[in-house]
Amino acid sequence: MSFLTKIMNLLVVGILLLPVVCKDSKAQNFELQRSQMVETQIRERGIRDRHTLRAMGKVPRHLYVPQNQRRFSYTDRPLPIGYGQTISQPYIVAYMTEIIKPRPDFRVLEIGTGSGYQAAVLAEIVAHVYTIEIVEPLGETARAILEKEYNNVSVKIADGYYGWEEYAPFDAIVVTAAAEHIPPPLIEQLKDGGVMIIPVGSPFRVQQLMLVEKKGESITSRSLMPVRFVPFTSSD
Ligand code: SAH
Repeated sequence: MSFLTKIMNLLVVGILLLPVVCKDSKAQNFELQRSQMVETQIRERGIRDRHTLRAMGKVPRHLYVPQNQRRFSYTDRPLPIGYGQTISQPYIVAYMTEIIKPRPDFRVLEIGTGSGYQAAVLAEIVAHVYTIEIVEPLGETARAILEKEYNNVSVKIADGYYGWEEYAPFDAIVVTAAAEHIPPPLIEQLKDGGVMIIPVGSPFRVQQLMLVEKKGESITSRSLMPVRFVPFTSSD
């Protein structure tokens, strides 16, 4: 083989391998961005729960973000996922996960599956996640990816106002859309000693993230911080 042919062969192999190499470095880049996200957006802002930190470091957020937004996956903000909805900012996902004090034996109900990202973070920690989405195409897309990645997540397309009675009561309920009031069926479906985290307030205004605790007959709630979530919609 002449020197020139050898060079040509090497070039051809190089060009053929280019997509593989690029794809690999892209994945590594996302991994680096994810560990930076955990350090600067989450740990430095005071999230300490080891389960939460591990899950945030593990779940590939970019898999839950639409293709045209993918390069922003690890930035410090919510992102559009279509149908006027958003995937929450990473810090908010971590905050809402830590606040329920998730444990491996927990069964958690999430209202507002959206991209499926919050469900995935919870599924890394708890025994089972039940998640409800009202916008069918969003629910179906999230279901496809969650079923591929996990065997402890159930997705239902329905109005989450009524919860998921069949599997109640839950150790914790995480609501990721802002409701004007706390839906009574959700309080009912909390275990004794269970907690619910829910943004409460008017649509498109600043809302309050509330922590609701159920102890016997007593329901207590307190405001944690101002937030801005997409509205809780109703099927009626
Ligand atoms: N947890 C999501 C955040 C999605 S935004 C994530 O990690 O990506 C909130 C979602 O709540 C939206 O997808 C919206 O369609 C959904 N939603 C709003 N009202 C709802 C309702 N009544 N029942 C179920 N889902 C609802």
